[in-house]
Amino acid sequence: MIRVNLAPLVHAELGLRELVTLNLSNLTFEDLTLNYLKGSLHFTRVAQGILCEGHLNAEVQVECIRCLTLFSQPIVIELEDIVGLPGADLTPERPVRVTEDYWVDLAPLIYEYAWLEIPHNAVCSPHCKGICPDCGGNLNLGECVCEEGAALDPRWDALKTLLK
Ligand SMILES: [Zn+2]
Ligand SMILES: [Zn+2]
Repeated sequence: MIRVNLAPLVHAELGLRELVTLNLSNLTFEDLTLNYLKGSLHFTRVAQGILCEGHLNAEVQVECIRCLTLFSQPIVIELEDIVGLPGADLTPERPVRVTEDYWVDLAPLIYEYAWLEIPHNAVCSPHCKGICPDCGGNLNLGECVCEEGAALDPRWDALKTLLK
């Protein structure tokens, strides 16, 4: 839950703005973990509801596609969306609204926008050696116990000859 009180804006005239500063740590969503989330959001009363916009800095835990270990990567979440007024219909395009007592939980929005920034081909380091295809050991940690060369499938011998 990322709860923000929007009471001053719900009944305000159009154009009124509020600045809200977030500084959170350890946010865990179903399949996404943010080590921290910080920054400021502007909330502006507009005709359709309350416009929420701003940049948030976060650090996300991602899995290296080569060695499959989790590592942290900083991301910038660029948010720009409408928060519905109390009683407004929730739709996939507008998944959050202010409750009858003027709170909004921004978590679904943050989650959605954070997803857009997650690197999907993340590599823990340009020098990552990955895992051994035979024993599954992490080559960065020297976990491979295969004898050098022993891992080569004999069927590759023909190819090796070709390469020579
Ligand atoms: Zn890696
Ligand atoms: Zn190995």
